[in-house]
Amino acid sequence: MTQVLTISCKLKVSASQAVKLEATLSAFAQALNWVNQNTPEKVVNPVKLQSLCYRAIRTRFGLSSNLAQQVCRRLAAARKVAQQKNRPVKAFKGGFVTYDARIFSFREKDWTVSLTTVEGRERFELDVGSYQRGMLAGSHPKAATLIKRKDGSYYIQICVEHDPPEPQDTTEAIGVDLGRRDIAHTSEGENWNGQQLNQVRDHYSRLRAVLQRKASRGTRSTRRRCRQLLQRLSGRERRFQTWVNHRISKSIVARAQATHSFIALEDLTGIRERVNQQPRSKTERRRSNSWAFYQLRQFVHYKAARAGIQVVVVPPAYSSQTCHRCLWLGQREGKHFRCVNPACGWEGDADLNGANVIALLGVAVNRPRGPWLACQLQGYGKPAPYRLAVGAG
Ligand SMILES: [Zn+2]
Repeated sequence: MTQVLTISCKLKVSASQAVKLEATLSAFAQALNWVNQNTPEKVVNPVKLQSLCYRAIRTRFGLSSNLAQQVCRRLAAARKVAQQKNRPVKAFKGGFVTYDARIFSFREKDWTVSLTTVEGRERFELDVGSYQRGMLAGSHPKAATLIKRKDGSYYIQICVEHDPPEPQDTTEAIGVDLGRRDIAHTSEGENWNGQQLNQVRDHYSRLRAVLQRKASRGTRSTRRRCRQLLQRLSGRERRFQTWVNHRISKSIVARAQATHSFIALEDLTGIRERVNQQPRSKTERRRSNSWAFYQLRQFVHYKAARAGIQVVVVPPAYSSQTCHRCLWLGQREGKHFRCVNPACGWEGDADLNGANVIALLGVAVNRPRGPWLACQLQGYGKPAPYRLAVGAG
């Protein structure tokens, strides 16, 4: 399985090169908007777009042959997405140019890239650290995107095909419970408390409520200022959450690597419905109804794949109510779990117990010899009131 990773690299740009990059970025955006306005909206085929506009793009905007093709491709992609979402293509604000192997190349010996601009080919030195060097070494990237950031710096996002190591064969699992009190809790007892995160998010949510009220009343200029502020806040909250998720997922994957384990996660589809089964306050519903869990899981998946660690997804039913020692149903009160089996009587952190059940389920799913967990359940002679284990096979 090949994984495509995007490596973001800062470019060292001289003043004269900056002028050329600016001209290219601007021509690319203008060409995109012009083609979008001057061709029928229903044309989503890049070759068709090219046959309609190729000449015009080249003479009007001075783009090279391959950059003209990139314009058509980029617009075609945007139109396809817009069609799926049933809305028109928005005007392009610019700030980017897409490149393929004909107009972009990477040279490892001096860590440079060469890019086609409206004034010919230019070579740029990469301003990168050891992570980027490690990822780029020995690679033959075929695509990249030139980006201009808000602060005026230029970046090249290079797509690198990466063959991750084969997942190791292992029977050890780290279970991860994604909860709402703790963001994540592993079967090894590591946990990430959600308190600070919730505080930050509650703060933003209150601010949003105030601003939204103001944005619907007040004078015209107040309304506009509130809208601008809202937009800025949404970016800040999102970046904070992303940073937290990167840290958690990185740590989980590093732990799995160090202990030669695979990772077992709960199947998150429908988490919103499940978490919201009991009547809960509006605040709690807002906290769990977010893209944050989804993002965390995605981060775990891609970081694990990169490290050659398998991720197993298990059905989440009853994982929080089953005792991980004896597999009886226990009692959960808030953060505390108590096993009612007189022979066991385990007591402790409910999320830690949940994470351990997930790890057990992960081992059961991952093993070819079938659902041993179900056999154990029957061994207690207690009619199982639920199906904890995964179906046969
Ligand atoms: Zn027990």
